[in-house]
Amino acid sequence: AAASSSRSDLDGKPIKAMTICMIGAGGFIGSHLCEKLMSETPHTVLALDVYNDKIRHLLDDAGTAAGHPWAGRIHFHRINIKHDSRLEGLIKMSDLTINLAAICTPADYNTRPLDTIYSNFIDALPVVKYCSENGKRLIHFSTCEIYGKTIGSFLPKDHPLRQDPEFYVLKEDVSPCIFGPIEKQRWSYACAKQLIERLIYAEGAENGLEFTIVRPFNWIGPRMDFIPGIDGPSEGVPRVLACFSNNLLRGEPLKLVDGGQSQRTFVYIKDAIEAVLLMIENPARANGHIFNVGNPNNEVTVKQLAEMMSEVYAKVSGERAREVPTVDVSSKEFYGEGYDDSDKRIPDMTIINKQLGWNPKTSLWDLLESTLTYQHRTYAEAIKKAIAKPIAS
Ligand code: NAD
Ligand code: UDP
Repeated sequence: AAASSSRSDLDGKPIKAMTICMIGAGGFIGSHLCEKLMSETPHTVLALDVYNDKIRHLLDDAGTAAGHPWAGRIHFHRINIKHDSRLEGLIKMSDLTINLAAICTPADYNTRPLDTIYSNFIDALPVVKYCSENGKRLIHFSTCEIYGKTIGSFLPKDHPLRQDPEFYVLKEDVSPCIFGPIEKQRWSYACAKQLIERLIYAEGAENGLEFTIVRPFNWIGPRMDFIPGIDGPSEGVPRVLACFSNNLLRGEPLKLVDGGQSQRTFVYIKDAIEAVLLMIENPARANGHIFNVGNPNNEVTVKQLAEMMSEVYAKVSGERAREVPTVDVSSKEFYGEGYDDSDKRIPDMTIINKQLGWNPKTSLWDLLESTLTYQHRTYAEAIKKAIAKPIAS
């Protein structure tokens, strides 16, 4: 069924097979995008990353006896784009470049601000330049964090205008970008992403670069980040899904940073990948646009997320939930000096709806159920072994 040649775009035109240079293909989003492209499209992927653990099952040498139906359509290149002369050649060979490479875990923004700024701005520069100079299309991954804090967050706590969507809904072509002071190094990431967005936009305006910018709003699902001490550093701090999964797997309370009052909207990775595929295959509708991609219906506070994850995990693991599922921790203790937070993130969906007809489908409960089923199946045994092992003295 895969790779049928009769597929057509949103305007009814047949879709031609293309070659995609995907930078950061070995990460969370990249792995899901590679899976989708291999199983449902005829496109070829040049997958660039420093790691390939999350896409190894897709590669030709994965060791499956029968081979894959997509054999020969995905090629892994172990490349660090900071310093590799092969990058331009691979972009030139492709019809489209998708750049996912970034340092994008909040624990790094205030503790490794230089690496964060270099990764999100400086290292992305040659990618933009090679696309522009060679007349190649670019889909660049930015972030919802570009919006920073909501306007409403500056109103007094009980002010009625806080309930007015004008004061919190985030719109691509209207909302300002509101970051904290320089000493709050949390914003190094958002600021670097903002500048690369402006640069790409300017390349479009002045030099005709065909670009699409994606602003993901908390995409979550299987293979996101790592579980500390199992497939990542034991002292590492991943994003909230992996932090809370780790706590649940170990039977520990979930840590709420500064009370867990910040709000987020979570979208299932598989819904979000549908949106990216529409962008890839409908260039006439996607070029020149910046798209929010999220699920405005899945809003919770971090505290509510913790409570729901505890409940869902009890269901999928068959283990009894803790009586006290959470514990408060200060952001200084958890992330260190210079942390700050986005208060609320509701994406406006008008533009992506109009251009691509995309809507998210999966409820928060359902996406947590499938994700925590995966986490339990993948990690529960390894965690039990790690806990049972006496600590070497
Ligand atoms: P991820 O960390 O899982 O993936 C990023 C990948 O890029 C990693 O595999 C990493 O090894 C690779 N990479 C980093 N620097 C590289 C370099 N110099 N050379 C080669 N490869 C390099 O993160 P993700 O969640 O898949 O995010 C992908 C993109 O989407 C990032 O740009 C991120 O800022 C953006 N984003 C994601 C979310 C989300 O909800 N997951 C939210 C906002 C923004
Ligand atoms: N958070 C938390 N406990 C954790 C990890 C994260 O309370 O163990 C909070 C964090 O302070 C933020 C939210 O969860 O308010 C989402 O964090 P994440 O790292 O996923 O990234 P963000 O959405 O801030 O980019």
